[in-house]
Amino acid sequence: MDRRSFLVLLLAGCADPTPNLLPAVSPLPAAPTPQSPAPVVSPTQSGDPGFDGWARDFYGRAVKAGLPSELLDRELAGLVSDPRVLTLDSRQPEFAKPFGDYIKGVISDDRIAIGQRKRAELASVITDIETRYGVSADVVMGVWAVETGFGAVMGSFDVVRCMATLAADGRRRQFAEDQLMAALKIIGSGEFPRSQLYGSWAGAMGQTQFIPTTFLSTAVDEDGDGKRDIWGSSADALASAANLLAKGGWVRGQTWAHEVTVPDGFDYSLTEGPRETPDWWARLGVVRADGLPWITADQTAKCMLIAPTGATGPKFLLLPNHFVIRKYNNATTYALGVGLLADRFGGAGPLIQAWPYEIPLSLADRITAQQALAALGFDPGEADGVIGVNTRSALRAWQKARGMIADGYLSMQMVGLLKAEVPTAGPPPAPPVAQPVQPVG
Ligand code: CA
Repeated sequence: MDRRSFLVLLLAGCADPTPNLLPAVSPLPAAPTPQSPAPVVSPTQSGDPGFDGWARDFYGRAVKAGLPSELLDRELAGLVSDPRVLTLDSRQPEFAKPFGDYIKGVISDDRIAIGQRKRAELASVITDIETRYGVSADVVMGVWAVETGFGAVMGSFDVVRCMATLAADGRRRQFAEDQLMAALKIIGSGEFPRSQLYGSWAGAMGQTQFIPTTFLSTAVDEDGDGKRDIWGSSADALASAANLLAKGGWVRGQTWAHEVTVPDGFDYSLTEGPRETPDWWARLGVVRADGLPWITADQTAKCMLIAPTGATGPKFLLLPNHFVIRKYNNATTYALGVGLLADRFGGAGPLIQAWPYEIPLSLADRITAQQALAALGFDPGEADGVIGVNTRSALRAWQKARGMIADGYLSMQMVGLLKAEVPTAGPPPAPPVAQPVQPVG
């Protein structure tokens, strides 16, 4: 729709238009009655045309979705974009944190001690989580620890403003508008006021970091005061997280992963590959690193083998519950960190195989490796510096073709070998940076 017919529609839809703010459009042609009266001027009036234009359009969509105009008038009035959110959304760290360093950072002695103490304090909630939701309470505690340091760091961003900023920016408009509408629904229902809806810049709220849509669908009142207070009640936050994992398909009674060992000469191209039972893996010599047998409930689980830091690091068989933890954050690092921390809360010892020393790879190293793989005919997907499943799969195929251990782990050595094969790979060199002039005096 062009701008003029949009205005006409707006005019026709307004029961009480404010004609003095409108350009003369006369005579009014017949137009179908729109379903949603949207304001002719932006409800925000921030002075930023992009933001105000989005807010005006959003208003119409929100009314159509059933949100009352009084609520929208009140909550959108005076809203301005938050530049911190756009900065945080666009940041791309120059160096990726090595996998083992991330996990070691998650599993500190301090955190283990706090978790074990909190576990004792919240005994009745823990029991309820395990009986009612059928979820590992240790894993829920692990989520709580990793998300907010047991509720200590919940974020202090105004979620309504953050989501409006992201929506207006457009890169993640559908996600942000869905979250904004859900946040407004929470406010409109009277369950919590806007001042309570604070969280991370990305919209995650409370002690277990629920985005607004997840709050609406999944948060629960565990302590029985009639409010789903994921900010002020650890019981509510933990039970809500348990509910999320239960809805995500948590298999009651099964664990989430076990550290395993593989025999010499093992075919590492099986990592991130087939999902098979522990018995199937045992026939290939893949056994629990602690030497213990699998519990009955785990014996039917279809497990995936991973070696996240390659052949020299720890290996794991991931059970389906690992992938349920990823409902929170779809990263192997995250789910492995939460799960290993949970194991320590439950009294398990440290890993048997230590994490190897890893040299951090720069963005340029990672893009170079991807471009070299592509040039050699091993498709890593987009050369974006993100080492995902496609890149690791391409790397395994290249390693296998060169007679190397096909563990799909991009080490500095592999970057060097790839660059030697394709000397032209890599991003163009950055332009020289002008040296800042030192003030004199
Ligand atoms: Ca409550």
